Amino acid sequence: MAWKTIGQLSSIDRISKAASLDRLSHAYLICGMDGIGKVTFARDIAKVANCLDMSTSSGPCGSCNQCIRIDSYNHTDVFIYDAKKDLDGVGRTSTMVTIDQLREDFLRQVHRKPYEGRTRIFIISSIESMRSEQSNILLKTLEEPPDDVVIILLARDASNLLSTIVSRCQVLHLEPVGELEILEYLGECELGSDVPIQEIARLSRGRPEWAYQAAINPEILHILEDKLNQFMGCLTDSLEQRFKLSRDLSTQFFRDRDGVYEFLDTAMTWTRDVLLSSSERTGEIVNISQKERIHEFSRMLSTADILNILKLIRITFGNLKKNVTPSLVLDNFMLKLPVATAIN
Ligand SMILES: [Zn+2]
Repeated sequence: MAWKTIGQLSSIDRISKAASLDRLSHAYLICGMDGIGKVTFARDIAKVANCLDMSTSSGPCGSCNQCIRIDSYNHTDVFIYDAKKDLDGVGRTSTMVTIDQLREDFLRQVHRKPYEGRTRIFIISSIESMRSEQSNILLKTLEEPPDDVVIILLARDASNLLSTIVSRCQVLHLEPVGELEILEYLGECELGSDVPIQEIARLSRGRPEWAYQAAINPEILHILEDKLNQFMGCLTDSLEQRFKLSRDLSTQFFRDRDGVYEFLDTAMTWTRDVLLSSSERTGEIVNISQKERIHEFSRMLSTADILNILKLIRITFGNLKKNVTPSLVLDNFMLKLPVATAIN
């Protein structure tokens, strides 16, 4: 199999069938969480549209010069634009250009004939970050797509997008991939023996691209560990310390919402781990390297406390998403969090 996409069998099947009938759509919208592999799938479609030895059952060959040039980001008919700096949430910015170039570059390129392949491919990620002026440029092109062109838009989900854009695309939803499949994938990558692949596979929550990035870039796990330490600290800290963290998080929220959501996500996963530990299900713990501290906390918090923390995190998430003032929401969270006290 030359598909580089991990999982996603039903989406792969749709593309394979369309390709075998020579009916690839002029526009696709690929939706899914950051790190789930949207860019990888888009590039797989680029290969399907240009491969010299495409097979209905096993996909693009992966070894013809078209596939090789697409894989190495050298194909002159494949363009990748990003509406945000950080492509797919995993930090691969080097070959990307900003959306500001849409007008000058995209509009010019989209009407040219393929240079070395059969089909020109335009991949545009983080569509949800586009301003209306930019969306309009895109919309006009989607209304009258040139021949020999496939436009592939990437977004977390379709609900925040202009319905006029969504309705002109075939929508493909990428689903979380199973832990075993991610483990198998990481096993095939050339990684150091000290990389905690089991823990990464669990932390990835079904996102193979995130898992790969976390496996090759230790900084990603360090950042998560810092967030975890902040949260654990907050459960034993004084109210003053908690409010300080609340202030820091609400300041952060204005420039980096995702970072605050990630803090809450981390807290949620860790709290579930504490619940697992207190019910003797330690084999299912996600934060494997934190097992001992998780066990300590499971002895310091009652089951009611743990369930209460999970509920508070959910409420906090909900209120932040509803645009309630962040400082109010986070202060309230800190105020209501139970205190973990050492058992003598
Ligand atoms: Zn090929």
